[in-house]
Amino acid sequence: MPHSHAVALLLFIVLGVFAGAATGWVWGEGMLAVAWVGELFLNALKMLIIPLIVAAVISGVASLGDIRKLGRLGGITVLYFTGTTAIAVAIGLLMVNLIQPGVGLEFDAPVIPESMAAKTEIGFSDILLSLVSPNLIASAAETQLLPLILFSILLSAALTTLGPVGEHVIGMFNGLNEALMKLVIWLMYLAPVGIFALVAARLGRAGGGEAFLGEIAAVGLHVVTVLSGLAAHFVVLVALLLFISGRGFGYLFGLLRALFTAFGTASSSATLPLTMECAREQGVDEKAVRFVLPLGSTVNMNGTALYEAAAAMFIAQAYGIDLGFGAQTVIFVTATLAAIGAAGIPEAGLVTMVIVLTAVGLPIEGVGLLLAVDWFLDRFRTAVNVWGDAVGAAVAHRFLPDSRA
Ligand code: ASP
Repeated sequence: MPHSHAVALLLFIVLGVFAGAATGWVWGEGMLAVAWVGELFLNALKMLIIPLIVAAVISGVASLGDIRKLGRLGGITVLYFTGTTAIAVAIGLLMVNLIQPGVGLEFDAPVIPESMAAKTEIGFSDILLSLVSPNLIASAAETQLLPLILFSILLSAALTTLGPVGEHVIGMFNGLNEALMKLVIWLMYLAPVGIFALVAARLGRAGGGEAFLGEIAAVGLHVVTVLSGLAAHFVVLVALLLFISGRGFGYLFGLLRALFTAFGTASSSATLPLTMECAREQGVDEKAVRFVLPLGSTVNMNGTALYEAAAAMFIAQAYGIDLGFGAQTVIFVTATLAAIGAAGIPEAGLVTMVIVLTAVGLPIEGVGLLLAVDWFLDRFRTAVNVWGDAVGAAVAHRFLPDSRA
């Protein structure tokens, strides 16, 4: 996309967010009338995810040339993902210990949806099991991206060993990837309207501005804790960008279209096509774009990890349960796993919260305290998730032997 278009588009997207927030605030449920426009935009993004992931990962891994180089790229990526997730959880815990948002909170016993109560058994083995799907089509239908990514990596590895026949097939996936990125650019032009409708309709569903303020007030400082934690982590990621990847604020500016889309859709997976296009425009090596970003959109969720830790502690404080260093260490580990396990879809983090709560023996009903404002916080944490992936791609680029920023 030409630079002038990108800048104009960003302006319209920002306008879309503000106009959506203002109209949803004032007209409340009346704005549900535009919900279908948002859904149309979201569906169009989702339509691209599966073919894009398969084509991008296959062509990205194949473009490494020697498949052994995958070890290096994979190593840097895993190191970055784990490091930043750990920092995010630590920030979440720090904030919640400083602000103590749940202490003295008065609330009625919350009720939780049944779908959540059924999730108490998720464990580490489930995350490993989720890597391999017995039915790729079924996984694709449910937007479970991890098995698709693993399959694409393996297929690509196999193709690179086949000589000319393999090259032929890889060439096809390269072409497919290029064509899909074209579709992404076309779709990007619809982002301002789509994001406007998504924001307006969601605020409308929450009952408009006053009802929304009431919900925020009910959970006291929880919202403040999470938002300030996310802001702090965002800044940490900017620092990593500046000092490790060697890029400047131009990268952040270039990625803003994707970050606002993450805010509008509350889904890292749906945002992935835009994240890839924005990173590509910023000159991030195609290998990093095609490998790190798809993987990151499903396993690297810094914002979600921070949220899981902060929210679990908030629940403990609200119930008057004192969690010491040991229990907080358990939260540290399980929040990381819960974030890895969360899908890149709206409010997925709320469901995997149950892993954290059960691990430290907190009442699962506590999730009920978070329900009303979760859709709102979800948008911010999704933007941080996407930013974490984008910085990851820039960092990986820096360490690829044949490309320097
Ligand atoms: N909505 C988030 C995402 O797509 C996941 C979550 O935290 O609920 O990244």
